[in-house]
Amino acid sequence: MRVRLGLIAGFLVGLAAPLVAPSFVSAGGCPDGGEMIEHEVAPGQTLSGIAVKHGVSQRSIERANPRLDPNKIRSGQKLKVCLPGKSSNSKKKKSSSSSGKSCGGGKIITEHEVRSGDTLSGIAAKYGVSVDTVVARNAKLKKNPNSLRVGQELLICLETKKAKNSKTCGYRTPLHTHVVVPGENLGEIAGRYGVRRRDMIRLNSKLKSNANLLSVGQRLRVCPEIAPRDRSKIEYTVKSGDTLGGIASKYGLTTHELLGYQRGKLKNANDLKVGQTLVVYKDGSVLPGFGGYDDDTGVLSSGVQMPSGKYYVVKHPNLAYGTGDSIRLIQTAISAYRRVWRSSPKIHIGDISKKGGGKFPPHRSHQHGRDVDIGYVLKGDKADEVRFVKANASNLDVNRTWDLIDAFLDTNEVKYIFMDYSIQKLLYEHAKKKGVSRDTLDELFQYPRGKKRGHGIIRHSSGHVNHFHVRFRK
Ligand SMILES: [Zn+2]
Repeated sequence: MRVRLGLIAGFLVGLAAPLVAPSFVSAGGCPDGGEMIEHEVAPGQTLSGIAVKHGVSQRSIERANPRLDPNKIRSGQKLKVCLPGKSSNSKKKKSSSSSGKSCGGGKIITEHEVRSGDTLSGIAAKYGVSVDTVVARNAKLKKNPNSLRVGQELLICLETKKAKNSKTCGYRTPLHTHVVVPGENLGEIAGRYGVRRRDMIRLNSKLKSNANLLSVGQRLRVCPEIAPRDRSKIEYTVKSGDTLGGIASKYGLTTHELLGYQRGKLKNANDLKVGQTLVVYKDGSVLPGFGGYDDDTGVLSSGVQMPSGKYYVVKHPNLAYGTGDSIRLIQTAISAYRRVWRSSPKIHIGDISKKGGGKFPPHRSHQHGRDVDIGYVLKGDKADEVRFVKANASNLDVNRTWDLIDAFLDTNEVKYIFMDYSIQKLLYEHAKKKGVSRDTLDELFQYPRGKKRGHGIIRHSSGHVNHFHVRFRK
């Protein structure tokens, strides 16, 4: 069938031109006779989203627009898109022509070209599918899930509806709708999903005029970095011997949250009466289709080595390769910190990634150049010790460390910071004393919700008592 079509096409072309099939048509054309269309970028659209929409690879759009900076896509911008051609003689052609084809159950195949910084779970989350779904269509990954290589073409079987839903989230995560419960502020809600308040405001135009005016039952759109959980409203009858703190911790809540749920009917712990009914919003399991955002494994190509600097020490320069963005952001944060603190011990920069990325034991992550370990700023004789030293209430320079953390957060590109719960407490109390608002504390810190609760940008992970770990978004 394919041969016959080819002959007919060849014959038609032959009428006007010599029977030579060039693999690339003249300037501005598409390879292999594909049709070129113009795509106007819609607000919030990303290159990967546009690629999925047209059933082509991101790389092919980059090839058709040589001057394009894939990280700077603007709404209204016009991009050339080459739709897959009909001829099929090269191997590459064959794979891109499966793009857009059905893979059963109303699903379509899309193609993803692995890029530096990509991770298996990141790719899965981008398309709103499970890691298993990604692996299933790719023999190499089936054999060895660690065989991810830059430039590799992956076929992904995509649920069309799901992909459409997560377009707003740049295909990183599915879109979730949060329903506001009593006592919640925007910071609390942002923290619940591991995002910033401004991420929420961007997605919910109503919040632009007044982010502090939330009403119970209001629906807010969010692209969750922490997987949303099923939430149910239950009633709890106070028993003899109950304390407010006890009831709260039974459900993994803070007393502040529990009080908020009562809509003013309970002012404080002393008002608690046996037989009284309390409203509790209880978190259940992760909602289907969400999760798997811990993109810890991956690769790094064209990594940049952290240069030496006046205000910091790079512990192991040969283990300090990052994405260009991450390296720039670390430098930006340290410079901003030094504008506040003219005098300070040097900042200690630990591991980022190996040259080329990939597995980096004993770290679980640090594979794609977007993770960096940084020492806490300490007081006393250990301040200039290059080896990471355990921080505690007596040696931690809370003032300086908080400002350093703040400088990182100010880059607006931090995905999360891993920090031991005990250090979170010290910084939280300090920030609170300094007048940082409740909204901001709720947005940033997991503390005081317990180290097991997924909440905030700053979260507990064991092994982070002598350094903190910053994961950048890019
Ligand atoms: Zn680390």
